[in-house]
Amino acid sequence: MSDLLIKNGLVITMDEHGNVISNGAVLVEDGRIEAVGKNVKPKTKPEEIIDARGKIVMPGLVCAHVHIHMSLLHGSPLDLSCSSTLLRQLFEEKIGRREARMGALLSGLELVESGVTSIAGDLPCSIGGGKILEEVATLLERVGLRASLGISVTDERSDREGARGVRENERFIKKMRKKRATKVQGMLGVGDTCTVSDELLCHVREAADRCRARVSVETSRSIVKVYSSFEKFGKGNVERLGDLGVLGPDVVLTYCVHLSRNEISLMKKSGAKVAHIPISDVLEGGKVAPVVEMRAAGIPVGLGGGGYSSDMFQNVHFAYCIHKLQSVDLGMLSLYELFKMVTVEGAKLYGWDGKVGSLEKGKMADILILDPSFLPTPVLSTNVFVQVLRAGRRAVETVMVGGKFIVRDRRLLTVDGVRIKEEAKGMIENLWKKLKKS
Ligand SMILES: [Zn+2]
Repeated sequence: MSDLLIKNGLVITMDEHGNVISNGAVLVEDGRIEAVGKNVKPKTKPEEIIDARGKIVMPGLVCAHVHIHMSLLHGSPLDLSCSSTLLRQLFEEKIGRREARMGALLSGLELVESGVTSIAGDLPCSIGGGKILEEVATLLERVGLRASLGISVTDERSDREGARGVRENERFIKKMRKKRATKVQGMLGVGDTCTVSDELLCHVREAADRCRARVSVETSRSIVKVYSSFEKFGKGNVERLGDLGVLGPDVVLTYCVHLSRNEISLMKKSGAKVAHIPISDVLEGGKVAPVVEMRAAGIPVGLGGGGYSSDMFQNVHFAYCIHKLQSVDLGMLSLYELFKMVTVEGAKLYGWDGKVGSLEKGKMADILILDPSFLPTPVLSTNVFVQVLRAGRRAVETVMVGGKFIVRDRRLLTVDGVRIKEEAKGMIENLWKKLKKS
């Protein structure tokens, strides 16, 4: 028996032809998509039928890079008063594992409530130790998200801390595999390349080869980071990664704002992928990541919110605006291309292609139902992407991951979100006070 038939919706498939189906249907069976189309006829009566008339049905969103602990800073009176990098350092020194857990949980809630079903999340090296990755994995599994998790290692403070981070990442990767975790996987995170020695970068590469896991590296976020790399190592960040043999198809480079032509070519040759963080480009100032050039070179690019926003509709909007501002060709990066980056293309970054990111037979049933009825203008197959953007997270009515309802009729079903948010407020206020004093 089929589990669920969603019918009469405006279905955005994000398949390779970009099909949008009016009065379309999606059939779900055993957590996977069994059929998508105009005339879907289940062989037997489905257990449940959702009439999505007037609604949009689309794949769950992929957030390609999020600092899951940094939700504790969202809305802080401090967040724009000093350099975001400096604030992040101060903040990461002040938080312990308890705060990191709460931050991750709050991020999880905000992500899923805004239609995100898969994330790549990192935690700072300073709060490693113990089993923080396992603890965060348990919380995110409880919320219902798909996640790739890792500690962003650096040996800026000590060699010991860097080596410990790699060990913890490797242990976590193996543990998730042994457990046969279906939603959470480990990855080898690397903090800003300027803060990581050649030895540690090579150590991460060896670990990735040993356990065949993805590597996520933060790099070339601002011009300061490029100067710093030339000063310390005599070359650009990505060039250095290339020379050390770190680049490869299993590597996701985050930020990538200031790149030379040679570096883009190195990335292309190695098969490395990119997570673009548009809000970071704005806050760091100076330049927008060369997304059009990277994609033209065949490099898959996903979108992330970094430490700034878990709302991927907002991140798409930011990206749409900043790339329009910098390019004379207004058609360069269309909304359709941006939605590809936040679904099917983003899924390629962490090995989820073939599994999530589009509504196609055989893929996991990670599905959103949006209700855009509050918009004053019609939603048609010809304007659906712009209307999805206008409606944003307000329209997210139902979120399903692997065929399981996480949000239904705007109500979070997996955890008590209201209580968690209430409990977090006291902790966050104290943290903000501590940060203000320092
Ligand atoms: Zn980051």
